[in-house]
Amino acid sequence: TERTLILLKPDAVRRSLRGEILRRIEAKGYSILALDQREATQELLAQHYAEHEGKPFYGPLVDFMSSGPVVAILAEGEGVIAGFRSLAGATNPTQAAPGSIRGDLAREWDTAVIQNLVHGSDSEESAAREIAIWFPEQG
Ligand code: ATP
Repeated sequence: TERTLILLKPDAVRRSLRGEILRRIEAKGYSILALDQREATQELLAQHYAEHEGKPFYGPLVDFMSSGPVVAILAEGEGVIAGFRSLAGATNPTQAAPGSIRGDLAREWDTAVIQNLVHGSDSEESAAREIAIWFPEQG
């Protein structure tokens, strides 16, 4: 079965939405293999968001992701990569469908960076890369 890397971003922790989001992941039937709350270092975020380096929102994104603790989750299940992206909804919360995490729970953000509660790997390749970054011991 497939594995993916999910992050509960600092806005999810600040807004006490960890339980609500975890409930949705578990209710869908995905297994949580590992879960760890931590302060992401600049170094780790630079690796994680390497593809966005140089974009206008890169600095604000790294600042936002280091503005408080994040919860890193290693999840497993049939089709979990696409399945969690579907649970999360569109990147922009105003466009995210009702029923999705972002559609139901996220609404506004500051002008520099979209605060959208969660991250999920977008392909098998990025899942493998991101799991190695956040859970190196799980390789
Ligand atoms: P994630 O990778 O967090 O699951 P995503 O794949 O939907 O989200 P990406 O395009 O990989 O989105 O962007 C990573 C993150 O950067 C987004 O989740 C959002 O927080 C922020 N972001 C993306 N595009 C913009 C933008 N145009 N303006 C501001 N912030 C953005």
